[in-house]
Amino acid sequence: MKCVVCGLRDAVVMQKHTGRALCRECFISDVISRVEKEIMRFRMFSDSDRLMIAASGGKDSYVLLDIILRLHDPSKIGVVTIVEGIEGYNRLEDVEKVRKLANVNGVDVLVLNLKNYVGYSLTELVNLGFSKNVKISPCTFCGVLRRKAINEIARDLGFTKVLTAHNLDDEVQTIIMNILRGDLFRLVQILPNGPILSKFFVRKVKPLRKIYEEEVAIYAHLIGYEFQTTDCPYLRHFPSLRAKIREYLYKIEKEKPGTLLNLIERIDSLSSMYVNHYVNYPELPRCVMCGEPTAYGRNYCMACELLTALGISNPSYNRNNYLRLAPS
Ligand code: SF4
Ligand code: ZN
Ligand code: ZN
Repeated sequence: MKCVVCGLRDAVVMQKHTGRALCRECFISDVISRVEKEIMRFRMFSDSDRLMIAASGGKDSYVLLDIILRLHDPSKIGVVTIVEGIEGYNRLEDVEKVRKLANVNGVDVLVLNLKNYVGYSLTELVNLGFSKNVKISPCTFCGVLRRKAINEIARDLGFTKVLTAHNLDDEVQTIIMNILRGDLFRLVQILPNGPILSKFFVRKVKPLRKIYEEEVAIYAHLIGYEFQTTDCPYLRHFPSLRAKIREYLYKIEKEKPGTLLNLIERIDSLSSMYVNHYVNYPELPRCVMCGEPTAYGRNYCMACELLTALGISNPSYNRNNYLRLAPS
């Protein structure tokens, strides 16, 4: 079958939500143009912005890096990756893939080991939690500490935007979770131009938020990304509500392709109506331990609270202890 867009090359992808059969080139350019459109629509960044790409090294961040390298001046791009230190899960292979793609385009990759940042690897933190009977999931430690470190590094180095590789499936799961919690404020915050509540936060944007996870995987495959065969051993601890919503959405999308895309478009329009209600919110308070912003009504940030729960009193964060993998 020939590609329905160019009519020249053989189709290799069936794009389910549009029902179109596409060749490699037309599929890749379709994804890139949708990402570009989303960036422009929400003014996620402009030519003068310095972009820090938060990369896990998985397919999503690899695809994000590939696309941003096509759309932005590489001299204004940096990549940061946090190596959690998870026993049995070789993140260095993933970092190497990202490093190759970044370095070949003249982009630096900063690698921060969690052990160097807080003095403990993720596995050590999890084991400490087990020994103290602290019931906090590994993914909570992982997410909270990664987000904190990335924000601090980006801010220190003068990056003006942090780009994360959340895809459409991730974004809709988060939306449904916020709806179930009745949390309109967080729903509005999901907008790329939502309120920034602290001058200590570097604005985070998600250029892949309208691209299906499946499309990201296909794109990754088409540009030669090699998938890792082992998963994080803590994956089974992934928040169960999110996992259930994911499964449910997957079934709905299978029955009615395009549902997720329609849903996010509607939620975006709805949230846009409320975004101005939140512009005059006061600056977030700062954690009394580390000085970073925390939620209204709290004295400690999540990271300090989690580490203190493990008996690590007065945690210190050494965010400068990263490795810079520069192009040779
Ligand atoms: Fe971190 Fe959980 Fe993802 Fe593992 S599954 S990398 S612990 S968030
Ligand atoms: Zn084509
Ligand atoms: Zn703190």
